Amino acid sequence: MSTIIYPSPIFGPVHSRRLGISLGINLQPADGKVCSFDCIYCECGLNQDHRPTLPLPTPAEVSTKLEAKLQDMVAEGQLPDVLTFAGNGEPTCHPHFAEIIDDTIRLRDQYCPKAKVSVLSNSTMIHRQSVHDALMLVDNNILKLDTVNPLYINKVDRPNGAYDVNAVIEGMKAFNGHIIIQTMFMRGEIKREGKLESVDNTGEEYVTPWLDAVKAIKPQQVMIYTIDRETPTQGLQKASREQLDAIRDRVIATGIPCTASY
Ligand code: SF4
Repeated sequence: MSTIIYPSPIFGPVHSRRLGISLGINLQPADGKVCSFDCIYCECGLNQDHRPTLPLPTPAEVSTKLEAKLQDMVAEGQLPDVLTFAGNGEPTCHPHFAEIIDDTIRLRDQYCPKAKVSVLSNSTMIHRQSVHDALMLVDNNILKLDTVNPLYINKVDRPNGAYDVNAVIEGMKAFNGHIIIQTMFMRGEIKREGKLESVDNTGEEYVTPWLDAVKAIKPQQVMIYTIDRETPTQGLQKASREQLDAIRDRVIATGIPCTASY
């Protein structure tokens, strides 16, 4: 089973399915994963298998290394389309996330003003005012909402500590449309406590309440996707193209733009 632990604090540029040519910014240590979720489909692997020993990068390290990389890219005449906060875990867990966003926007404006700043987040910290305010400043505030079903969240996204999906939905509404919802749809079964359990969230009982939440949040866009590479948990299967297209079309029918990645 292969997992990806990204270099830190800067990696790439890489071609992203959803975002184009992207320079990655990883606010976690380079030798492991730190996340407030422990998704069974995480490309970085499960938290327990990748405990880091190195410290988090400091804001000074992030800005120094980002500036050096952007200077190289300017010299090579190849600028990024997007600066993407992603990597080995949840970027908004970094205690200096807001300061790092300010630095990144300053460097973007200086070296590649046409590039977008994107944050891929699992939404667990959006209740923090400083995180909310920082996410209001970025171009693409991409927040995960895989389901509104608490049992499914506990089975698939597996939050560390308390997680209230209704509070997360309220936090999402507070962006007043400055939000892109990202949702993983998949099928399959996993073994839990010796029994096989479905992890299929493509059925009506999942899609309809999720769609109701999406309509209430009123995002600028929705991105739906499915498993793209090997997962740390056995038994997960891709949602079919037809299923993803059908869900995408239901979102579009509400007047909200939606893309599907297969
Ligand atoms: S939120 Fe993202 S980084 Fe965290 S466990 Fe899930 S997939 Fe991995």
